[in-house]
Amino acid sequence: MNLDLTPEDIAFRDEVRAFLKDKLTPDLAAAGRLATSVFIEPEYSLPWQRILHRKGWVAPHWPKEYGGTGWDEMQRYIFASECARAGAPGLAPMGLGMVGPCIIGYGTPEQKAYYLPRLLAGEDYWCQGYSEPGSGSDLASLQLKAESDGDDYILNGTKIWTTHAHHANKMFCLVRTDPKTKPQLGITFLLLDMKSPGIKVDPIITLAGEHELNQVFFDNVRVPKSGRLGEENDGWSVAKYLLEFERGGGSSAGLEAVLGRLKTHLFTHGADAGLIRRFGDVSMKLEAIKITEQRVLAELTGGQPPGPAASMLKVQRTELMQAIDTLGIEALGEHAGVHQPDAWLPGANVPVIGPDALVTGMARYLNNRAGSIYGGSNEVQRNIMAKAVLGL
Ligand SMILES: Cc1cc2nc3c(=O)[nH]c(=O)nc-3n(C[C@H](O)[C@H](O)[C@H](O)COP(=O)(O)OP(=O)(O)OC[C@H]3O[C@@H](n4cnc5c(N)ncnc54)[C@H](O)[C@@H]3O)c2cc1C
Repeated sequence: MNLDLTPEDIAFRDEVRAFLKDKLTPDLAAAGRLATSVFIEPEYSLPWQRILHRKGWVAPHWPKEYGGTGWDEMQRYIFASECARAGAPGLAPMGLGMVGPCIIGYGTPEQKAYYLPRLLAGEDYWCQGYSEPGSGSDLASLQLKAESDGDDYILNGTKIWTTHAHHANKMFCLVRTDPKTKPQLGITFLLLDMKSPGIKVDPIITLAGEHELNQVFFDNVRVPKSGRLGEENDGWSVAKYLLEFERGGGSSAGLEAVLGRLKTHLFTHGADAGLIRRFGDVSMKLEAIKITEQRVLAELTGGQPPGPAASMLKVQRTELMQAIDTLGIEALGEHAGVHQPDAWLPGANVPVIGPDALVTGMARYLNNRAGSIYGGSNEVQRNIMAKAVLGL
């Protein structure tokens, strides 16, 4: 693959840079730079989403007919890199990144007409109701019961680890509609309203002291059947399709930005040879991942899911992310404690924004331990690759 920028690519990059310079306010840029996990508070991600939407740049990976940009893989890569470089806040992955492509793939014309414009405009904020206590890696064992009652399903049970459920007004969710058949065959995929009577959201506070996760309880919650994506009892196909977008979506551009700041720190404050050697090692790994991403991005053109490459990227990115975070706190040494807002930005006078603990290298380190668990653990991804790629 030719990674050199053509004159057209350079012109495009300059256009993106000019746009970012013009539209990315200092507050939004600080929110992006100081983020300590992949999930940015909607207070910052939604205003940025609306700015991108007005420009027509909010969903580069969607097919053009549904609101995508029609960019090629290099343009999408340039856009993601420039946004990360400038510190633009990441957009919530559950909407545009996950359920959007799924609605495009499986939705009825009515569902597409209703949900897709709202997704693009950031009118709905989505959460993902897959995991349950006891059903994570073994997702097909999920138990949240959905009984048919006229035009509705009635839901009883619980979901757990539901990121940003306390912010979301919509959930996409897997429910058990047939308890008697093989586990994978009795699951249905539903789109539901979080304001429905009978839904209760309880917080789970992480090791970093942050509130991202929740447990969601369903007590006789009525969900109209018009919210079903795909056929009844065929939700497993929809669920797997969505997971490929979850694992394969995103990019390492954010890691590049973090690594750039670490480089500044290492070379400004002095570091021993061991740390510099490890910095070289993670930098090379990042280059390898960037090239793989561009190949996978090329396959994603037209809104197609990435297949088993999604598992490979998920493992590579999250392991690299954790290696960079570990190196970061080792380099910071005694300064790596919590409440060190400028620790990752030596010399920068950045205001502390967002919830208290959101601005530290240590919080990043702690939060990103979850990277090898969410979206399906890395052990599970290795099982998928062993089956799908190696035929084991
Ligand atoms: C920060 C965070 C955010 C999350 N957000 C969401 C969300 O928004 N929505 C949602 O639905 N879920 C979410 N999850 C849940 C996530 O998808 C699950 O935690 C994950 O799938 C693992 O399931 P589990 O926690 O039940 O662990 P388990 O499945 O109990 O796994 C425990 C350990 O056993 C290993 N293991 C299990 N099975 C195998 C196997 N077959 N082969 C080898 N090793 C195996 C796992 O790798 C892991 O190390 C989130 C999780 C985290 C940590």
